[in-house]
Amino acid sequence: MKALVFFALLATALCEKVFNGDQVLRVNVETEEQIQLLHVLEQEANWDLDFWLHPVNAEFPVDIHVPYHSLKAVKDYLSAHDISYSVMISDLQDLLDEEKMEMEKNNMKERISRSFNYGAYHPLETIYSWMDDLVAAHPVLVTKEQMGISYEGRPMYVLKFSTGGDKRPAIWVDSGIHSREWVSQATGVWTANKIATDYGTDASLTSLLNTMDIYLLILANPDGYVHSHTSDRMWRKTRSQNPGSICRGVDPNRNWDAGFGGPGASTNPCSDSYHGPAPHSEIEVKNVVNLVKNHGNFKAFISIHAYSQLLMYPYGYTCKDAYHAAELDSVARTAAQKLSSLHGTTYKVGSICKIIYQASGGSIDWTYNVGIKYSFAFELRDTGRYGFILPANQIIPTASETWLALKNIMEYVRDHPY
Ligand SMILES: [Zn+2]
Repeated sequence: MKALVFFALLATALCEKVFNGDQVLRVNVETEEQIQLLHVLEQEANWDLDFWLHPVNAEFPVDIHVPYHSLKAVKDYLSAHDISYSVMISDLQDLLDEEKMEMEKNNMKERISRSFNYGAYHPLETIYSWMDDLVAAHPVLVTKEQMGISYEGRPMYVLKFSTGGDKRPAIWVDSGIHSREWVSQATGVWTANKIATDYGTDASLTSLLNTMDIYLLILANPDGYVHSHTSDRMWRKTRSQNPGSICRGVDPNRNWDAGFGGPGASTNPCSDSYHGPAPHSEIEVKNVVNLVKNHGNFKAFISIHAYSQLLMYPYGYTCKDAYHAAELDSVARTAAQKLSSLHGTTYKVGSICKIIYQASGGSIDWTYNVGIKYSFAFELRDTGRYGFILPANQIIPTASETWLALKNIMEYVRDHPY
């Protein structure tokens, strides 16, 4: 059995999915009727479309990754319905080749210089061994805790920043729950280093860490992350097997016990937003749920995604206002202003349901409902030039500006105990 698994893994590693001639089209929707027409397109299973941004309303663009074999059909469909579009990425594989080449170049440089480049994308093994280096460099402040294992048996590590005490009020940050959103994990890595190095020099962060702990889960979906490096760069979900289906994986951000199975999640295991057979069916989600419950003293929970430049708060599964909506909105607006102050990057702020679309089973809805008032989700850069394939030279600018917002939220949480 073990040998079988080994050969299956080897086979997957050898046949990396290619996207030659695939394009990403940006559709600027103008009417409600066009939204409906795009919904029809979403249902067209034979065309294998991958909606990077789903049709919502006339305010938001729609980005569609169209495989080469469907390009003509999709363009004909759009033209026939007078829906205007532009080509955002003219050959997806070209962009992925560039990304890969840059990673390989960086890998060589890092090996020669024995250093870690925060402005580069890294595979899981590199991030995990970097974690050990971070802990070794800051042994008093940082610990690496194994919080469980993933579906495919990889350890899940959470970095804990603590100056002592038992179950102090804590702030949770996770990145990479959707594996293809690489700038999210890279921002997690940069942020961990920032927290570790700024403690003791940044007065505000130091005072925060003197009374609170920070937990940072950088690879919230380790199997998906590995798969996005070795087999399919566009992989978003977990890698669990779905009985009775050839399609693998569950959308781990539709799998939480908050409006589970409602609108904005799919019942189809082949869909990228498949909610899974039951709430918390995904071990990666369950591990976070267990940790949060056992800890019992998280005051903030922040989940980092990409892309679209949004800062959101509950709810996703309903468009009804959360009880603390006004306060969360004001916290998020101030944080977004801080973020913007560095490079002028603009963010939209609102509840998930109102700002993007109704989406059930999301993590921050669950955390909010279990009493973690300050629950937020970021969608980092960009707004759709590169989408998920954000060039590595934008990692540090993205992480640096995001840190201003994160820190601002953390300070607010510190100053508003509950
Ligand atoms: Zn995401």
